[in-house]
Amino acid sequence: MSTVLVIGAGGVGSVAVHKMAMNPDVFSQITLASRRRSKCDAIAASVKQRTGVDVRTAELDADDVAATTALIEEVKPGLVVNLALPYQDLAIMDACLKAGANYLDTANYEPRDEAKFEYSWQWAYQDRFKDAGLMAVLGCGFDPGATSVFATYVRKHLLDRIDTLDILDCNGGDHGHPFATNFNPEINLREVTAPSRHWENGQWVEGPALAHKQAFDFAEVGVRNMYLMYHEELESLAKFYPEIKRIRFWMTFGDSYLKHLEVLGNVGMTRIDPVKFQGVEIIPLQFLKALLPEPSTLGAVTRGKTNIGVIATGQKDGAQKTVYVYNVCDHEEAYAETGNQAVSYTTGVPAMIGASLMLTGAWKGAGVFNMEQLDPDPFMALMNSQGLPWKVETLAAPLAF
Ligand code: NDP
Repeated sequence: MSTVLVIGAGGVGSVAVHKMAMNPDVFSQITLASRRRSKCDAIAASVKQRTGVDVRTAELDADDVAATTALIEEVKPGLVVNLALPYQDLAIMDACLKAGANYLDTANYEPRDEAKFEYSWQWAYQDRFKDAGLMAVLGCGFDPGATSVFATYVRKHLLDRIDTLDILDCNGGDHGHPFATNFNPEINLREVTAPSRHWENGQWVEGPALAHKQAFDFAEVGVRNMYLMYHEELESLAKFYPEIKRIRFWMTFGDSYLKHLEVLGNVGMTRIDPVKFQGVEIIPLQFLKALLPEPSTLGAVTRGKTNIGVIATGQKDGAQKTVYVYNVCDHEEAYAETGNQAVSYTTGVPAMIGASLMLTGAWKGAGVFNMEQLDPDPFMALMNSQGLPWKVETLAAPLAF
């Protein structure tokens, strides 16, 4: 029986809190804090209606370390689950150290003025968490998160050595808008417009954004175009699995999304540096965010499925073998269960699972941990029972591209 403090009342926070309330044996008391209390209260009302569980709410600016420390000291949680934005990661980690709380998040820290997608700032907290006897788990969503757990599971049970690893992220959902992002537009567009980068023979290979296209037939979705991209779990996978010769990340995008993105990029609307407009400084990407549909409103209108998984080729008992581990998640089912679409669902459920493993002691340690360092078995078991069942297929041959 444990108390948890969740920070961030967006789509991911909403799913995580709903799923925590559905597991009252682990999460006996839930507090949800965010920049706007009204958003927390709306989630609490939905949780109450769906599960009968009361969620406490609080207003918090998580950039304010003193305020966050005070809230942690008041709530006294066994764990702080950070589902705000990547900008808040370090402030919340600082508050956890001050107040003596364990920490979990789903995205690496990002400075506001430059898209970096790297763990260096958070890895620098290693000694402080270790010395305090506290545990911080980084990147516990789907990707990063479940994808690294899949790779770790493959390495533990299915292959003696991994030579190549491909992460394939397909959102086959359709929300009917010509252009919208399924999660925070600012973070999403920063990620998509960054140069592509993959790991090959011990070094990073860079290329232009969205230039390398490949068609792939996704189970329960069909053939989609996917594009080579950089994604933050590549960094932790390369660090913790130096044996892997090539690690790549692919994400699907529809033609309409890409056409809009190209135009918005060409006219400067995806810039993240300040621009003076009528005497006021604005950041074009933040202005664009204000014009786009709120990701949370897409749930009710999104149809179709996501399919996210890893394909690993390596050696098993002296022979080459290729395995594919993946999950398919249905947008409408996710919405019916939690009021949020599958992109939030596939992130919020792993966050809840990681939180549950930390609170029950199945995952324990002192210091800063990535998913590759933790036992995949209890996580994989809970994925099956908590709404994200996975499949393993043995492929006849390695990927031909
Ligand atoms: P949203 O933008 O929907 O939600 C973020 C929430 O955090 C909002 O409620 C926002 O408040 C709140 N917030 C922002 N700044 C602060 C602050 N200073 N103090 C307190 N609260 C704040 O994002 P999502 O729910 O889609 O994503 C949440 C996190 O999950 C992000 O870090 C995202 O990068 C990550 N993510 C990870 C994925 C994975 O697979 N690993 C996939 C998808 C997302 P307000 O409502 O007032 O704006």
